Amino acid sequence: MRDISPAIFIGNLPGLCAVTEENGIISIGAGVTYTEAFSTLSKRIPALGPLFDRIGGEQVRNMGTIGGNVANGDTPPPLIALGARLTLRKGKKRRTIPLQDFFIAYGKQDRQPGEFVEAVHVPVPAKDVKFAVYKITKRRDEDITATLGAFCLALAKDGTVADIRIAYGGMAATPKRASAVEQALIGKIWSEATVEAAMAEYAKDFTPLTDMRATAEYRALAAKNLLLRFYVETTGTKAPFQVSRSEAA
Ligand SMILES: Cc1cc2nc3c(=O)[nH]c(=O)nc-3n(C[C@H](O)[C@H](O)[C@H](O)COP(=O)(O)OP(=O)(O)OC[C@H]3O[C@@H](n4cnc5c(N)ncnc54)[C@H](O)[C@@H]3O)c2cc1C
Repeated sequence: MRDISPAIFIGNLPGLCAVTEENGIISIGAGVTYTEAFSTLSKRIPALGPLFDRIGGEQVRNMGTIGGNVANGDTPPPLIALGARLTLRKGKKRRTIPLQDFFIAYGKQDRQPGEFVEAVHVPVPAKDVKFAVYKITKRRDEDITATLGAFCLALAKDGTVADIRIAYGGMAATPKRASAVEQALIGKIWSEATVEAAMAEYAKDFTPLTDMRATAEYRALAAKNLLLRFYVETTGTKAPFQVSRSEAA
């Protein structure tokens, strides 16, 4: 077996276990469990609640941490869409970077030897900003993501897209922004025609793979349709699609 020493158990370190909020930014220590983090996050950003409900089971949510999940999990796309930043620390030295810049390539992150994730800082979106995250799996509960899309939209008074941040998991080797799709939306009227035109841009942003969770074709189509779903849900043109646990049972 590979020698991985020295290994350090960082569970329950008081310095990594705080959740605080200052000036509209929620800071979550890397050692905070999902259960603890989401009890604050889903109050302040209710659209994150349904995702929390679908990360593993209760045991995983009570043990798994935000720091561990940033390294390997479902939370980066919504946090990237929200504009989260990450504090990395080595000894007394700290640096804070946009979360999206942390992911360099599959299994490779912007983390120096000896550096660890200390905290994630999540801006609470303004009241008129529309935010949603959708996780696609074969089973509703306890299943690994095929694709996951997160959307954060600010509309101007004239109904045009002032800003939109879209991030996906399961579509590339790392969690990734849909930059070409975003550019096709910004400045345009938030309408079905705009959204359908932007859907053609997905091929520029992503070349998904086929694996046991989904085919490349399925991922490509599902990712586009999540944008359409976000449009439908933000404009109230059709009933929302979120299925609760009791409805799914
Ligand atoms: C049954 C089951 C179901 C699951 N379902 C889901 C799911 O639906 N969605 C999902 O996203 N995840 C899921 N997971 C994955 C689970 O959420 C991850 O195991 C968890 O995110 C890891 O957290 P951890 O605190 O245990 O980290 P660890 O397992 O201890 O660490 C994970 C990796 O991150 C590194 N790491 C941890 N903390 C830090 C830090 N502070 N700084 C730098 N590196 C760090 C570790 O070195 C390791 O490489 C599931 C896991 C199980 C067992």
